[in-house]
Amino acid sequence: MLNPFENFLKQIDNVAKYLSYPKYVFEILKSPLRVIEVNIPVKMDDGTIKIFKGWRSQHNNALGPTKGGIRYHPSVTKDEVMALSSWMSIKNALVAIPYGGGKGGIKVDPKSLSLSELEELSRGYIDAIYKYIGVDQDIPAPDVYTNSKIMSWMMDEYSKLVGKYVPGVITGKLKIVGGSQGRGTATARGGFFVLREALKIKGESFKGLTVAVQGFGNAGSFAARFLSEAGAKIVAVSDSKGGIFNSQGLPYSSLIEHKSITGSVKDFDRAENITNEELLELDVDILIPAAVENVITQENADKVKARYILELANGPITPEADDILFEKGTFILPDVLANAGGVTVSYFEWVQNRMGYYWSEREVQQKLDEIITRAFHNVYETMQEREVNSRIASYIVAVSRIVEAMEARGWI
Ligand code: GLU
Repeated sequence: MLNPFENFLKQIDNVAKYLSYPKYVFEILKSPLRVIEVNIPVKMDDGTIKIFKGWRSQHNNALGPTKGGIRYHPSVTKDEVMALSSWMSIKNALVAIPYGGGKGGIKVDPKSLSLSELEELSRGYIDAIYKYIGVDQDIPAPDVYTNSKIMSWMMDEYSKLVGKYVPGVITGKLKIVGGSQGRGTATARGGFFVLREALKIKGESFKGLTVAVQGFGNAGSFAARFLSEAGAKIVAVSDSKGGIFNSQGLPYSSLIEHKSITGSVKDFDRAENITNEELLELDVDILIPAAVENVITQENADKVKARYILELANGPITPEADDILFEKGTFILPDVLANAGGVTVSYFEWVQNRMGYYWSEREVQQKLDEIITRAFHNVYETMQEREVNSRIASYIVAVSRIVEAMEARGWI
């Protein structure tokens, strides 16, 4: 089994070669500051009690309170949550928002729960960790299989426990209780901006480029929409049940309808079924892994034909696969940059909650564009100056900022 936290450790070793800090600096980054493990008893609809295991990892808080989503997935592990929290530290530092990195997870298949069981589990998780989170301490948000409804319950539970309304403790909420305009589409929109800048540099445009998207959830489905609106052709998409392909392109709105009726993109009448593995190896211009970690490994990396890979998922490419792809000249837009739009608009939400004044969707999008475009060019300039690949460049920029903050605070 590939361990995402070990992948993170390798990524830190890789960037360490380019930075002249003492070894202990990297040791700090390799050790999350705090990892909380909780057992959450939930009264099920049939009257029995079931215990669910959950974690919250707070990786580093030199730049500000820890921040990052909460994942509900049957295969969540402590090491996965630790890795995801570490990537949040890198991501938040890279886009220069005032946060450290954190992440939470519960080992559960949310699709097997009723709505009331899901609510009880979500409230139970907050009951278990509420002393360790807060607007200036650690701010959760959505991630795989969690959404604005769950975030709203969590904010409510926290507010009840502390005896006052605290919208800024959780981001990604429903708009009526302090959610931001544009948060739902933010991850995909950020990815779109990153790709737009990359194409500009290469002298290309979206028009006619073929795209395959693995994962048709919040990030992947909106990415497919934004890219097709810009003129690209979405030829393949998939979800956990399987994928579909049509070389002529997939009609977006009928596909959304098909997924909402059947629960999957599979068996769409205007495409042929393919597997998730086949999707990754299609001869397309742009590949967008938008599901989970470790889908491109040393086993399949040499079969990946896409010229651009936009990592909307966290950690979809292993360090070994990275070497193969960079060697081939694939332009990888790394997760910590490509999917940073989500946490960036979470930051806007937190700011708006704190001042109690709310921005229009246009303002949110403009500010997002500015932050993501600036981060892309910081990475690109570092690639040129240091003659490194895009992942190393992203880590150079991010780790330097975290270290500068640790120095400024007198920790090292
Ligand atoms: N879960 C998202 C991520 O991996 C968003 C985190 C947030 O909004 O805090 O970046």
